[in-house]
Amino acid sequence: SLDLDITTDGVLTADTHLVQSWADLDFLKQSGQRTVIVGAEGAYVRDSEGNQLIDGIGGLWCVNVGHRRREIIDAITAQLETLDFYSTFYNFTHPAAAALATKLADLAPGTLNKVHFGNSGSVANETAIRILHHYYNRLGQPRKRRILCRHGAYHGSTHLTVAMTTPGYSQGWSREDSLVHHLRCPHHWREGQGMTEAEFLEVLKQDLRDTIQHYGAETIACFFAEPIMGAGGVIVPPEGYHQAMFEICRDHDIKYVTDEVVTSFGRLGHMFASEDVFGIVPDIITTAKGLTSGYQPLSATILSDEIHEVISGPGGMFFHGMTYSGHPAAAAAGLANIALMEAEQIPQRVRTTGKRFEGLLRQLDRHDIVGEVRGSHFMMGLEFVKDKATAAPFAPEDRIGLRLAREAQKRGLIARPLGNILILSPTLVMDEALIDRTAAILDDSIAAVQ
Ligand code: PLP
Repeated sequence: SLDLDITTDGVLTADTHLVQSWADLDFLKQSGQRTVIVGAEGAYVRDSEGNQLIDGIGGLWCVNVGHRRREIIDAITAQLETLDFYSTFYNFTHPAAAALATKLADLAPGTLNKVHFGNSGSVANETAIRILHHYYNRLGQPRKRRILCRHGAYHGSTHLTVAMTTPGYSQGWSREDSLVHHLRCPHHWREGQGMTEAEFLEVLKQDLRDTIQHYGAETIACFFAEPIMGAGGVIVPPEGYHQAMFEICRDHDIKYVTDEVVTSFGRLGHMFASEDVFGIVPDIITTAKGLTSGYQPLSATILSDEIHEVISGPGGMFFHGMTYSGHPAAAAAGLANIALMEAEQIPQRVRTTGKRFEGLLRQLDRHDIVGEVRGSHFMMGLEFVKDKATAAPFAPEDRIGLRLAREAQKRGLIARPLGNILILSPTLVMDEALIDRTAAILDDSIAAVQ
């Protein structure tokens, strides 16, 4: 039946056939509660009870230009009316995919001029690895396969990307056999206690050097990193971290891949963060989410001319691609989304509005249960602690993140609980009044649970 049993507070209490993603399925079964979002406009969404809620997580770090923008909806419709679908396999292409690839080459830093499309961040990251393995095979270095990631990273939900995310995933493999190695998490507050940030950076550099020494650079394909870790709890690395890691990698012929699935398209005040925020031009950038502001599923793996030159040389058959790589409707959404961002100077505006948001959230540090407020612009995380002096964490059964998210939702704000952390990654179109209201709701919600 399509009749959903929606009762109190816009919450769906009936059993459904939908398996939720990244959910505590047991808790859901017992509580039976799901929030049903039925509509959206600008910085808000509406639930099935008619409650207007500030979309404090921008869909899922992705609705950067705000909901229901007419320009993007019209572009998707016009595209479907002209060409609903054709693939980008073999020698076929279509104007929307070609135009978007050209636009991305123009926006991406350095010589990152070649674009392969996918349909999710996970796939963009898998594609980066497939390309690098192919690249080293063609260079006669088939042993160069290992991927260096970091504890705390999030790179996706497919087999390989979840292994790059979760160290325990490859359990049963010996450390030597594993395709993935996790370096130390660059989180100064938790991992570098008793050290200055500069001292902690030296520890992180040494960890990378030791790892390269242990395995041998001839077995390592790449270093894979989000400029700011997102789903791992919004972790900003120490000042100069990416430049330092990049230099060590370059000295050992290890490619540098930045996972900009979250940090690109305005969230940190720039189209891409790698160069403009962190001062490096990586060998590959992966992106998704804000690329279409979530209006269509689309991702891109953007590679350097040098990598492309190698994989497209004589006999360069490339066995990779998904049916929907560069889907016309998704490419049209991407083009319209970027045009909107440029016309309204959204990344530039975020440099002011995002800083206001960050500043107000940092003031929440005054609460006893707030251990650390971290992040940048419209990518923020609040970590809650049982004891501020020792940073002792809440126990999982305290469900502190969930309780806070519920308090916020009662007051008209969606925030994302992640264990003891609350994530805020709203649309980038919030005005000052809405930013202030969001911070005030968080303030009241924290006061309500302590
Ligand atoms: N990389 C990062 C940094 C992400 O935050 C995410 C998703 O949140 C992914 C990759 C995976 O993207 P998707 O869920 O579209 O596969």
